[in-house]
Amino acid sequence: MKLFDQVFGLFNETGELKRGLGKVSGIIAFTLGVLCFLGVLAFHFPEYLTTPELRKNYNPDMLRQLMFVAMVVAAGIAVSNMIFGRHRYLNFAALLLVIITQGLGGPTVPIGDFPDHTPYIGLDWFILDLLGSTTIFVLIEKMFPLYKNQPVFRFEWQTDFTHFIVNHFIVGLILLVVNFLIHRLFSWAVFPALQEMIRSLPFIAELALIILVADLVQYWTHRAYHEVPFLWRFHSVHHSTKVMDWMAGSRQHILELIVTRVGVLGALYVLGFSKSVMDLYIIIVGFQAVFNHANVSLPWGPLKYIIVTPDFHHWHHSSDREALDKNYAAHYAFIDYLFGTAVKSDKRFPEEYGVLGDYMPPGFVKQQLFPFVFREKKAQSTRPAPAEPPAL
Ligand SMILES: [Zn+2]
Ligand SMILES: [Zn+2]
Repeated sequence: MKLFDQVFGLFNETGELKRGLGKVSGIIAFTLGVLCFLGVLAFHFPEYLTTPELRKNYNPDMLRQLMFVAMVVAAGIAVSNMIFGRHRYLNFAALLLVIITQGLGGPTVPIGDFPDHTPYIGLDWFILDLLGSTTIFVLIEKMFPLYKNQPVFRFEWQTDFTHFIVNHFIVGLILLVVNFLIHRLFSWAVFPALQEMIRSLPFIAELALIILVADLVQYWTHRAYHEVPFLWRFHSVHHSTKVMDWMAGSRQHILELIVTRVGVLGALYVLGFSKSVMDLYIIIVGFQAVFNHANVSLPWGPLKYIIVTPDFHHWHHSSDREALDKNYAAHYAFIDYLFGTAVKSDKRFPEEYGVLGDYMPPGFVKQQLFPFVFREKKAQSTRPAPAEPPAL
């Protein structure tokens, strides 16, 4: 069927979109249509489809207005493209989604009382982060691009987008596992007097300290992921992207994601930072984790020796010899200068990205399985190649 061919064919396409043919606007309309449809499902089943930590802060009226605007924009674009005969099927699919959303109640679905402790998937987190991050980061990347000709739908965007979707959907499961492990592993190390001292620090000092503690833990776990061959099998998934942009940071093995969070949040839990400082730290880490991978070039000046910038983290993802196993920090670049692991190069940016030897299979499922099925040592790298799995 042509409708399915045109819509699902999009997921196999890579490269620059030709302007003026209704495709760019059609994709925007279709994406908004999908998000509106998912949004109306979240209105109907909030207990299963929304994140408790987020829904506490929602203003339902604002979300209804946001959904209404998205529906109007999607329908408006779709109808005008259809009138002018531009990508009719894609735009028809977008309009159909808006009609179905409206049929299911649209922005007016009432939200009653619901239990708070049901298992859930973070559909709301996915919708809001995709809308917000796409708007912010695509805009920054278009304003200050490092590689000017790199398209939004670049090589292997499908793999990284799948990582993005799954990471958001399983946010509830991850939080559950991480919280469980933190309390199991670190409760013995809690000293109320130390926590009180930390909470009595001025806000800025406490913020600088939380980032330092988080980054020190992050630095050493990250370095272990590079230097212990068994751990590198997991971390090589993150390094396998050959194109850097804001979506590339989503490519990560789920077990690595959990282990790193247990380590970092465990340390923060033990030290008992104030809630306001913790909240700001979560925003900073969320922004920096995405921004550091972005296709962005900005004049940082001496700041680049202090904080981690996209320049700094791009070098970490390089397969250039001078860059292997360097630049581990996530927030404070000076940590790498302190421990002697900062890249020292005459060039501002590296030439090649990815794992040396290019042994990572493409696709989300294969990448999650990679650490367990890796059998051949294809990698010729000074960086530790994944070790052979033990014989079963
Ligand atoms: Zn790394
Ligand atoms: Zn990275």
